[in-house]
Amino acid sequence: MSATCGSCDAAITWARTERGRPMPLDVEELDFAAPGLVVLNPARGTCRVLSEGQLMLVAGWRERGATVHRSDWDTCPSAEQHRVSPQQEAPPL
Ligand SMILES: [Zn+2]
Repeated sequence: MSATCGSCDAAITWARTERGRPMPLDVEELDFAAPGLVVLNPARGTCRVLSEGQLMLVAGWRERGATVHRSDWDTCPSAEQHRVSPQQEAPPL
């Protein structure tokens, strides 16, 4: 699900949170983890925002194919617009 952010032209990939909400992630894979970064399960297309208490789990998730990304909501200059209506940038389902 590669795409380009309609606001900042960043290369993003769309994932879905556990609550089913679409979330744009920067395509770049990070080799570290920190609270607020997002773990993506590429096989399922689902993601989870990391909390402090989950950092110890990331290594195990990586072994099963998960990747760590920044949310475009954190890096996008137009993040406030994303937050107001993320559906506007979601691909047709
Ligand atoms: Zn953006």
